[in-house]
Amino acid sequence: MQKMKEIWQEILKILQNEVTAVSFDLWIKALEPFDFSEGVLYLSITSETAKNRVLKLHKEQILKALKKVSDEVTDFKIMTIDEKDSFLKENKTNEADEKINRPINNFNPKYTFDSFVVGNSNKFVYAAARGVAENPFSKINPLFIYGGVGLGKTHLLHAIGNYIKDKNPELKIIYATCEKFIYDYVEGLKNSKDRVNSSFREKYRNLDVLMVDDIQFISKATATQEEFFHTFNDLYQNNKQIIIASDRPPKEIATLEERLKSRFSMGLIQDIQTPDYETRLAILQKKAQQEHYSIDDEVLFYIAENCDTNIREMEGILSKVHFYANLLGKESATMEEVQEALKDQIRINKQDLIPERIIDCVCQYYSINKSDLIGKKKNKEIVEPRQICIYLICEMLDLPLSSIGQLFGGRDHTTVIHSREKITNLIKNNSRYKTIVNDLKSMAKRS
Ligand code: ADP
Ligand code: MG
Repeated sequence: MQKMKEIWQEILKILQNEVTAVSFDLWIKALEPFDFSEGVLYLSITSETAKNRVLKLHKEQILKALKKVSDEVTDFKIMTIDEKDSFLKENKTNEADEKINRPINNFNPKYTFDSFVVGNSNKFVYAAARGVAENPFSKINPLFIYGGVGLGKTHLLHAIGNYIKDKNPELKIIYATCEKFIYDYVEGLKNSKDRVNSSFREKYRNLDVLMVDDIQFISKATATQEEFFHTFNDLYQNNKQIIIASDRPPKEIATLEERLKSRFSMGLIQDIQTPDYETRLAILQKKAQQEHYSIDDEVLFYIAENCDTNIREMEGILSKVHFYANLLGKESATMEEVQEALKDQIRINKQDLIPERIIDCVCQYYSINKSDLIGKKKNKEIVEPRQICIYLICEMLDLPLSSIGQLFGGRDHTTVIHSREKITNLIKNNSRYKTIVNDLKSMAKRS
């Protein structure tokens, strides 16, 4: 049963970024997993109305998220409490528990080096990942990959996994999201009094290749950082391969211990950037071919032009276009139909976006409190996010400078102008800031 809960936690994490905060709190959080059999995850919810609401609003998003999280889950069913009770009475077997308890470290077969399009934005990181896959345990250790949301980090980790599994099936590889790592650590402690011999250590030290995805989340968990440090040292000293992905470089992970930062710098730290137009187009063509979508070139150009920050979003648009054509009973949609279908997604909808949402996103991204962000603190950890936030509000919304100042504890318009200019310059001179700003923009647009 434990694994089912874990899968659901992972799904929640994805959905949190996919649906609005209100929807998430009202509908998604109300769902509770209670069974899993034959690829179907069963969720319960309090009422018939709530059930219909979730299905109407979020069916596709939930389906997509669960397919992303596990190859074993292919569908889900929502039941009201009454339906659940009668279902359980009829169907209860122990088999379901067993199935869900199998480890899930299957690599997604779609995420390979062959399906990864290489362009200027990612050629170095591709070379590094490929190098590690072909020659693990050599110089590139650890390999630390960082970059914005939806730019291919997880794809590359799976590509390394798939490659090694194919060429060296005897090697033991563990891929864990940071959340899974933290979870296993906490569970390990619960189930064992003896830390040194805990099941956690058995699992994470008895391996050849360790990959931890989205390591930035470790900043919240100090005890796990400690354990990760020891795991890292142990593996490293025994010449095991370590690969890590993060949305930002080690030095920008808040509250990451110095000694971990320095461990991460022992190998190669490589960034992945937002793709240029040609790469975006090539990715779209490849995906369309892979999924057997028939989509006009003109439409692909249009998507590549209009979606320039996040490949995952771009893929979402591509499949939306495909389904839209199906819905119209056509082989492929015309340009006009596509524009109509995508009008909400592609246009930044200024009316819908409010400054509070941007502020929330910045706070979430940097793990800081809203009161600090809009308050008077002058330390760098707060000032920079604050300036970025002001910049985003200026860029994304048509608000008078003085009202923006008001939002930040009554600062005057010169502060707003100063922040905007400062960040504009930083973006010009440092691609890292461009990525942060792009990530935050797509986060705010989605929330
Ligand atoms: P991240 O982990 O960086 O947030 P993912 O690896 O999940 O991003 O990538 C998001 C989606 O974009 C995936 O479906 C992935 O296959 C696709 N993608 C990203 N980069 C590329 C690329 N260079 N070529 C092909 N597909 C890509
Ligand atoms: Mg990822």
